[in-house]
Amino acid sequence: MTRRPTTAQLTRWDHAHLWHPFTQMQEWVQEPPLIITRGQGPYLIDSEGRRYLDGVSSMWVNVHGHRHPWLDQALRRQLGLIAHSTLLGLSNPPAIRLARELIRMAPRGLTRVFFSDNGSTAVEVALKMAVQYWQQRAPQAVSKRTFLHLSQSYHGDTVGAVSVGGMDLFHARFRSLCFETLTADAPYCYRCPLTLTYPDCRMACVEPVERILAERHADLAGVIVEPLVQAAAGIVTAPPGYLTHLRKLCTTYGVLLIADEVATGFGRTGRLFACQHEGVTPDLMALSKGLTGGYLPLGATLATEEIYSAFLGNFAEWKTFFHGHSYTGNPLGCAVALANLDLFRRERRLPKLQPKIRALRRYLKPLAERPHVGDIRQCGFMVGIELVKDRDTRAAYPLEDRIGHRVARVARDLGLLIRPLGNVIVLMPPLIMSLADVNRMVTIINRAIAAVTEDATTATTRLRKGVAHAT
Ligand code: PLP
Repeated sequence: MTRRPTTAQLTRWDHAHLWHPFTQMQEWVQEPPLIITRGQGPYLIDSEGRRYLDGVSSMWVNVHGHRHPWLDQALRRQLGLIAHSTLLGLSNPPAIRLARELIRMAPRGLTRVFFSDNGSTAVEVALKMAVQYWQQRAPQAVSKRTFLHLSQSYHGDTVGAVSVGGMDLFHARFRSLCFETLTADAPYCYRCPLTLTYPDCRMACVEPVERILAERHADLAGVIVEPLVQAAAGIVTAPPGYLTHLRKLCTTYGVLLIADEVATGFGRTGRLFACQHEGVTPDLMALSKGLTGGYLPLGATLATEEIYSAFLGNFAEWKTFFHGHSYTGNPLGCAVALANLDLFRRERRLPKLQPKIRALRRYLKPLAERPHVGDIRQCGFMVGIELVKDRDTRAAYPLEDRIGHRVARVARDLGLLIRPLGNVIVLMPPLIMSLADVNRMVTIINRAIAAVTEDATTATTRLRKGVAHAT
């Protein structure tokens, strides 16, 4: 039997060979990595046996906890049959059954499922479907090939998804690769681009969207939006009714509404899909992350019958949707996704979640008193705590201060793993996290924020005073 490598060996090999995503590697190699070897429920366990609460569901994917016996069993059962066969020219039971189940649970009116591999590809598929749809549905409308998206939007890292992205830090370098799009300001109430206050503003931020649609609908294939929560922007929550407005505007101006539910789907907001809070059916919906309960990579793009039927025709009409990936409809991924959906029913996940969402809100309240907490945004089990240098002016910490990162490091020492977004502390625990652990998670975050923002301020003030005395 080969010996399991030690933490020291793994550290050496990680530093020698692995290139981590969204990571400054020069900095990474200066300290030993935290190496996760096991998981159990809401816990991650490292190579030295230390346990941590998984405060961000392993990058927003885990739903029912790690090593859930039902999910483990579903995977083992499928492994006993076959790991993979293709959907190009063949079919397989898990993909068929999952498509049927997704349609049963999705907003009414979505009838077709196209599988891919992750959130970015689910978005790419939606964009390409929208463009081809207009070519075939209304050949006279060939100019309908661009998209409207919101500022601060994030839809993934492939080039199409980057084109409809609005986060300069991530996207600006790649603009030369991207197609042109139209942008409208996001409904970011804490930093309202119109300097208005909700609800007195009467959601004036939809007016610019309407103006763009009125002027440019002939060029627009679709509007893409993260419903209710712009997650990567820093859990920026839209005011109630915003999504409904977008739906109405898209219908009025004959533009497809694409809902990117990659982050919000599968219970994070308290409903299975965020669109369901407002009874909205998009024309296309992108899913991934929680689709497999955090077990395997899988993406899905759901479409209406109207869109699907525009792709039908004789072979030589070339209306086929020419897109597909080697692992599309992978049976292992689909089998575990089916079991994941099953658990929502079997374990009454969403009804059980509601009191925990309310408790989370209560636990977070005292944090609002902290001198450097500017805004606390919560939608279901998605939380963003925006830290600010100055609460009165809402002045942001310079990004290079890495305030979020520093809070995360203290939280880690206290037994909680999170990944911040700049100055925003993100909490997005697995939906099974117990009330006691939710409380512990918030207590740790509270302490970590105090330690970094207040002790640092005090320390700096002390330092400044010391310097002043000395001179
Ligand atoms: N869309 C949204 C809303 C996301 O939050 C993400 C990832 O965070 C993506 C798309 C991209 O998903 P993936 O990382 O699986 O490609």
